[in-house]
Amino acid sequence: MELLNNCPLCGKKSFSKFLSIDDHFLSKESFQLVKCSSCKFVFTNPRPRAEDLQKYYESEDYFSHSKKNKGLITVLYNAVKNYSLYKKYNLISRHKSAGKILDIGCATGEFLNYFYKKGWGTMGIEPAKNPRNFAINNYGLDVKPEESIDELTAKNFDVITMWHVLEHVPELNKRIQQIEKLLKDDGFLLIALPNYLSWDANYYKHHWAGYDVPRHLYHFSPSTISELLRKFHFNIFEIQPMKFDSFYVSLLSEKYKSAKMGFANAFVNGLKSNIHAKINNNNYSSIIYLAKKEKRAI
Ligand SMILES: [Zn+2]
Repeated sequence: MELLNNCPLCGKKSFSKFLSIDDHFLSKESFQLVKCSSCKFVFTNPRPRAEDLQKYYESEDYFSHSKKNKGLITVLYNAVKNYSLYKKYNLISRHKSAGKILDIGCATGEFLNYFYKKGWGTMGIEPAKNPRNFAINNYGLDVKPEESIDELTAKNFDVITMWHVLEHVPELNKRIQQIEKLLKDDGFLLIALPNYLSWDANYYKHHWAGYDVPRHLYHFSPSTISELLRKFHFNIFEIQPMKFDSFYVSLLSEKYKSAKMGFANAFVNGLKSNIHAKINNNNYSSIIYLAKKEKRAI
């Protein structure tokens, strides 16, 4: 295990205990979340060393929700996924109608393939070999392993996306720095993240599936992601809710609670979360952040 002595966001050394969470998904091990006393960033600490993280992904299910057609969750997941692809494309093409897109953590490549078919230049980064090979062999996409990020041409991409990926990346600051380098000055960055300030996170507490330890190393709120991006001269210019995520995360959370009537509860709680966010504070279960580089005089 690796114990962080400095907050990954602000560098300060004083943290308080936030929550203790079990890995409900795979290992059943228990992990501690801490909150920085200074900037309020919540992160998993201690956490597995980078070289040991791999084993926490070694489940047939993790990257292959989409590949097996069994169970109601999977059927719903696929229907929502297809609709989501269309929505994601619309969101991005509202700001850029064509160009080159880099998807970091592209998994099996469905999102990139959608853009490829619309005539975009596409490139993917995927650390896990099986989904990477699937994207290459099944869609003919250009997908590289994680270490290739450093070799990519600077200022080459109009759009860089990370869909529920940044919370998994051990070298958080380095990754944003790399993105700043790869993105064109007039391009934009899209980051989708779970939000632990959502109604469903507060309702499910240590059973909330959005914590997903130890795979999720960081637990962002709208203000901490904004703070991280500002460090690297990015400004958030738009946020969008991911309204299906509250249902999906609630369904998984019900499963982790081993609750009876989990499906009905998840539906009600997913809805409550969305309504609460809409009325009160925009703290949706998952949020898409769009950010641009600050214009700087050189
Ligand atoms: Zn901090």
